[in-house]
Amino acid sequence: AAASSSSVAAPGKGVENVVIIGSGPAGYTAAIYAARANLKPVVFEGYQVGGVPGGQLMTTTEVENFPGFPDGISGPDLMDRMRRQAERWGAELHQEDVEAIDVKSSPFTVQSSERKVKSHTVIFATGATAKRLRLPREDEFWSRGISACAICDGASPLFKGQVLAVIGGGDTATEEALYLTKYARHVHLLVRRDQLRASKAMQDRVYDNPNVTVHFNTEAVDLVSNTKGQMSGILIRKVDTGEESVLEAKGLFYGIGHSPNTQLLKGQVELDHSGYVLVEEGTAKTSVDGVFAAGDVQDHEWRQAITAAGSGCIAALSVERYLVSKD
Ligand code: FAD
Repeated sequence: AAASSSSVAAPGKGVENVVIIGSGPAGYTAAIYAARANLKPVVFEGYQVGGVPGGQLMTTTEVENFPGFPDGISGPDLMDRMRRQAERWGAELHQEDVEAIDVKSSPFTVQSSERKVKSHTVIFATGATAKRLRLPREDEFWSRGISACAICDGASPLFKGQVLAVIGGGDTATEEALYLTKYARHVHLLVRRDQLRASKAMQDRVYDNPNVTVHFNTEAVDLVSNTKGQMSGILIRKVDTGEESVLEAKGLFYGIGHSPNTQLLKGQVELDHSGYVLVEEGTAKTSVDGVFAAGDVQDHEWRQAITAAGSGCIAALSVERYLVSKD
């Protein structure tokens, strides 16, 4: 395939064309496109997730739905490939967290622990973090019984044909529960309150589905394993009576939401009421000219590696257009 054809002037003295913040599928895809467009992108990869770059997929085992890998690929392997592809085209990668940015005046300033960079444009791709319950044995079973994504993991052999549980009472949790009924033997929905917060339509679908049992006033306390060390159940507690029991389940899906990593952007670009970056629909444009956002940081709906990568591509192509228009 031909590289992007437009030629953008080399950055002015000490001012970069584009800084990309984040090293998930959105950040690396933006880096690949920007590097191939000769923009010499500077990427701050961050090291928040497990002290390594690569984003959320570094915490999972097999990724079975990223096109091009018919036999699946491990999350870290997929991210390593994206990283190497960005590097091969000349992206400048720094394993540093950005600590502050200033996009109030152009050129923008991006500050990490090691350096301060001025740039004409910024792509914000810092992702989101699945909210966790912090159960005592949660780390032991994360990705080996616990998941935060039914679409990603529901069909995995670990969960297929099994009894599963979903935690949460909103639209995400009900959607996950209904989705899992395609594969699971039965799904328990554990709801802390005495009612669902999900839309009426979702509630009806849950109540009408014989394969979902809703447990109100119920919280998860811990996880239970069998003699082989595999997750076999959930210790649950009735919040009204304090009564505890073990619910048999081979998997637990968290449907309690995500937190977008937008602390740096507060007061700089417009965010929605949940803290996600607001972009103009169908684009990567934020409320500030020259600042773009891609991936989960601006998407509370789809949250997939492929959609993050797609929006990273859009962001990089938008940067290229923006710079050409300013030439
Ligand atoms: P992220 O992957 O969240 O990456 C954000 C990056 O920004 C990270 O590298 C982080 O370190 C960096 N960052 C944050 N703050 C800073 C800062 N201040 N300075 C510098 N860097 C910073 N999706 C699928 O399509 N298929 C799957 O099978 C699948 N499985 C999943 C399994 C798990 C356990 C999880 C949690 C998610 C899974 N997903 C899956 C969802 C997928 O991982 C996300 O949709 C995708 O990673 C989002 O990409 P992103 O680039 O927007 O952000």
